[in-house]
Amino acid sequence: MSETKSTCCYCGVGCGVIIEHDNGVISGVRGDPDHPANFGRLCTKGSTLDLSAAPETRAVRALYPELRSDRGAARQRTDWDSALDHIAERFAAIIAEHGPDAVAFYGAGQLLTEDYYVFNKLAKGLIGTNNLDTNSRLCMSSAVAGYKLSLGTDAPPCSYEDIDATDCLFIAGSNTAFAHPIVFRRVEEARKANPDMKLVVVDPRRTDTAESADLFLPLLPGTDIALYNAMLHVMLWEGWLDRDYIDAHTEGFDALKQLVREYTPTMAATVCGLPKKDIEQAAEWFARADATLSMYCQGLNQYASGTHKNSALINLHLATGHIGRPGAGPLSLTGQPNAMGGREVGGLANLLSAHRDMADPTHRAEVAALWGVPEVPATPGKSAVELFQALKDGEVKAVWIACTNPAQSMPDQTLIHAALEAAELVVVQEAFAHTETCTFADVLLPATTWGEKDGTVTNSERRISRTQPAVAPPGETRHDWEIAADFARRLGTRLGKGELAAKMFAYDSPEAVWNEHRESTRGRDLDITGLSYATLETAGPQQWPYPEGATAGAVRLYEDGVYPTPSGKARFVATDYVVTAESPSARYPLHLITGRLRDQWHGMSRTGLVPRLFNHEAEPLLHMHPDDLDRRDLVDGDIVRVRSRQGAAVVKVMATDTVRAGQSFLPMHWGGNTMAGKYGINALMPSAFCPHSKQPELKHAAVQVEKVTAGHPIIAMRRIDVEHENPYTVMANLREQIGALPYASLTLAGRQTPVVVLKSRVDTAEPELLAAVDHALSLDNPARALSYADSQRDIAKRALVEDDILIAVRLAGETKAAEWLTELMVRGQPATPLRPWLLAPLTQPPAGQPTRGKVICNCFDVSEDTILSALRGGETLEQLQARTECGTNCGSCIPELKRLAAQAARTPA
Ligand code: SF4
Repeated sequence: MSETKSTCCYCGVGCGVIIEHDNGVISGVRGDPDHPANFGRLCTKGSTLDLSAAPETRAVRALYPELRSDRGAARQRTDWDSALDHIAERFAAIIAEHGPDAVAFYGAGQLLTEDYYVFNKLAKGLIGTNNLDTNSRLCMSSAVAGYKLSLGTDAPPCSYEDIDATDCLFIAGSNTAFAHPIVFRRVEEARKANPDMKLVVVDPRRTDTAESADLFLPLLPGTDIALYNAMLHVMLWEGWLDRDYIDAHTEGFDALKQLVREYTPTMAATVCGLPKKDIEQAAEWFARADATLSMYCQGLNQYASGTHKNSALINLHLATGHIGRPGAGPLSLTGQPNAMGGREVGGLANLLSAHRDMADPTHRAEVAALWGVPEVPATPGKSAVELFQALKDGEVKAVWIACTNPAQSMPDQTLIHAALEAAELVVVQEAFAHTETCTFADVLLPATTWGEKDGTVTNSERRISRTQPAVAPPGETRHDWEIAADFARRLGTRLGKGELAAKMFAYDSPEAVWNEHRESTRGRDLDITGLSYATLETAGPQQWPYPEGATAGAVRLYEDGVYPTPSGKARFVATDYVVTAESPSARYPLHLITGRLRDQWHGMSRTGLVPRLFNHEAEPLLHMHPDDLDRRDLVDGDIVRVRSRQGAAVVKVMATDTVRAGQSFLPMHWGGNTMAGKYGINALMPSAFCPHSKQPELKHAAVQVEKVTAGHPIIAMRRIDVEHENPYTVMANLREQIGALPYASLTLAGRQTPVVVLKSRVDTAEPELLAAVDHALSLDNPARALSYADSQRDIAKRALVEDDILIAVRLAGETKAAEWLTELMVRGQPATPLRPWLLAPLTQPPAGQPTRGKVICNCFDVSEDTILSALRGGETLEQLQARTECGTNCGSCIPELKRLAAQAARTPA
């Protein structure tokens, strides 16, 4: 067995991993003990990366280039030359007829810095269009705009080690416990080491992060600016500001002071729906701590007021002098593994390489000189929402989408699907062929992915790590930067710039690309001229800036109080609270906020391949307060249609007091591939965006909720022996059936042996649907399957037992036994003793394994029922952990374990 150091490809924590591999196959993964982002730890997602690269996942990989001659035709396998020449011809023709802005590129924060760099140079340097945007627009462009507006440049001033040194941690709009679990482990440790440290959490929803807080502020969605302004009002009134810092290192305070006069705690209490005393307490802890660190994420960024929310929070740091010191400062947590790397190379429609300003002629000339082109365009290109709107309107004719799935992840999915249908040419460069966006591809270019790629990424704390390949590229896949460079040379010839393109894209390795990027940073705030691939490999990951001659990167910025603004001073941004883009109304009376689950990442194109990652949450549940359910005559488990001004989705409802009355929550991971309808959860979300950052209000919508009366339940499952069958092929066959159903979810369950699970409801018994489902699950041979039918009551069931194992089940019309049958299948326990009851309407089997509820600890497969019954039976949490090991490995479930312990204490057996 060999080992290769690399990085996790999910969130912006940027954990180091060690990939174990044997004979060209990835066989395991563990945390890199030497990596400063995680010191050997991985969360549930990172620690199952090896499973997402298991041999059976080849079934969903894009392995060969594919091309279709026209829209109605199916794509056919082709070779690289034919695919790239075809695209080059089409791009050249469109550019010749309509100009360079008629083509566009849409990339991803999952691309490596080298990939980003080449795409950026291709669009802005060779073609001459700034139409290059990425899914980072959906993630952190408000954080970028906020940093630039307040501090002068896009540079997070803090590091993770500031968590260890802070006295007050202010988490706003971030469920860190779920979305950045390894950072949250560090928070837990810091609190243990310093019991006096205060944790304040601002979030409309009582998340597991909020549960851990000393002070939880469940503000009404989108009212953050009113809260921060009111906190500043209190600080001013009480004399808790750092006047010396304000005078020496900032400007614009007087205007802000005027503005916040109106933001009394009483006024903000009404706007934010918070107790006045909690606002005052938050202000006191923030201002009077020796060092206050804030961490924030999509709850600030994904709003039409996202930039100003960022600036309003940064105002508090500047006013109290909590910046540029150990344990102090505003730290934006990036959602994606390399959104930061993309920012560094200027990989957005309004950015230029190395934090240069597109509006600045000197900066444009510098970039043009670096690239050897006469000029780069001055007008910002189209941001994500604008790009797809232009595609739909015919202004942009061709789009090249790389490493992302906009047909699931963008807001207003109806618009996105219409845009992709309207486009003259859709190129999709992807590692996975099963994403919703691949359906629209006229040309599919197979790309390498985690475990195969070579390059660098930068995490939330400006730390650059090497990403290294453990195994060879499968099939005919190629690296993203390689594909872009090859295409650039072919396009250059057709644009009459063949010689120039050959010179511009003459890279023979990712290191050659990176070295050019490194040179572009010389003298800039993110100068990395002192680094090299060799340094990153021998000395480990490093933070920028790291200029030539340095021996270490900068742990924190602005320690001297000098900011990269014309005056050298940071700027207070006086900004009023504005209502959300989508306010509730009589027709759409509920706030809907979306967010992340603990064990899934983004559109699930990778985490959705790992059965055990569905054991924590198996389907998208609409969280609603019990009072709101009562008002609508709904009960927990009902199927409901959620409708917004943009679209609709049908999901199961869950009663919970973690959301306030008048609010609701949905996880954002599900798209048209895994639920009924073709649009998924993001169909509900508005595309209104922040005027400064152009980041859409992807987090919040106003919705109505109504009961769906389809009363005929169907649950179908198949246990897959991966030696002989492929779970993803079975899923693909079932997927063909779910599109037109009123409600459906298609997921996996199990651990070693996957079980494919389809849950649905239809209006009446549908024999054709059942026949298709039976066929997909190999239940269509009545001679082999047990069956039961009651035509009077429209009940029809089938089960298949082979070698004493329950292999497949389909229940229609009555599904009481679904849970224990799933358990029986997952565990592969002997089915023969239960044979008489397999098709009976029993919620529990007469003997054998009872149901276990959701799995809380995924590392050791410990369920909620097991935990609660042990704790209610008198076991302490420590005893339970010693016995079952739950929560002792990755630690992702620790907040939930604590919550369950508190619940058990409130409701003992
Ligand atoms: Fe990966 Fe989890 Fe670390 Fe994020 S916290 S980088 S998902 S292991």
